[in-house]
Amino acid sequence: MIFLFICIFLVSDNVNKIKVGGADNVNITRTPFKKNSRFTECLIQKNALDQDGFHGWAFCIGMLFQSTDKWWGDRKKRDRPHEGLDLCLYKNQKGAIVRLEEKTKVPVIYDGMVVGIIDDFLGKSIIVDHLFADGNNNRLFTIYGHTIPQDHLHVGKPVKQGDIIATLGDSSSFKTNILPHLHISLGWASKSISYDRLDWKSMGDSNTLTLLDPLHIIDTRYFILRSGLKTLNRV
Ligand SMILES: [Zn+2]
Repeated sequence: MIFLFICIFLVSDNVNKIKVGGADNVNITRTPFKKNSRFTECLIQKNALDQDGFHGWAFCIGMLFQSTDKWWGDRKKRDRPHEGLDLCLYKNQKGAIVRLEEKTKVPVIYDGMVVGIIDDFLGKSIIVDHLFADGNNNRLFTIYGHTIPQDHLHVGKPVKQGDIIATLGDSSSFKTNILPHLHISLGWASKSISYDRLDWKSMGDSNTLTLLDPLHIIDTRYFILRSGLKTLNRV
C-alpha cells in the first residue's frame, strides 16, 4: 500500500459529506440526476481497498468537476474547466491519505455498451453509452480516462454495472510527475449524436455533452484537501 505524506489540512473530518459548492474557487453545476451507482463499492471490493479501511475519496480542488486549477505539474490554470472528476486519493480509517496504485481495476458505473476507445494524454479513454434516456430523449454517457482497457474490451461490447473494463495506467514516465488517476466524465448527449464526435476536443462543448458532476452519483463520503499541493508527489 502506498501512503502519501502531504502537508495539508483535511477540512472535513467527522463530516459525512461536504457541499462541494463551498470549496474555494470552484463553480459547480448542480444536477438533478439522482441515479446512484455502486461504483465505489465495486472499486473497493475488486481492489481489496477495504483491507486498508477505505473511508472516503479525497480530492484536491483541481480534481473536482469544472475546477479551473491543475493539481499536477506547474499547478497553474487548466486550459478549460475540468470536464469531470479525478479519482486518485482516498482516506483510510486511520486518517492517512492513500493513492490509487497503477493497475487499479476500474469498474463501469452502470449497465451499457462500449461505444469508443480513444487516446488521451495519459493512456486510453473508454466511452460507454448507458442506453437510458432522460425525458428529452438524451442518453447518458460515461467516460473513463487515463486507463489501460482490458484485452477483451472492444467497441460494441455490452457491460454490466461493476464489470472491470480497465486498469489505471502507469504515469511514471510523464514529465509532469502526475499520479495515476481515473478521470470520470458523465453527461447527456442528444439521441442523434454520432459516437465519432465523442472525443476530447469536443467533450466539454455543450453541443456534444451536457456534463454532470460525477460526485453526485458516486455514492460515498468524500473529503476536500484544501492546500499544500506542492508536496503531493509520487512516493
Ligand atoms: Zn480529469
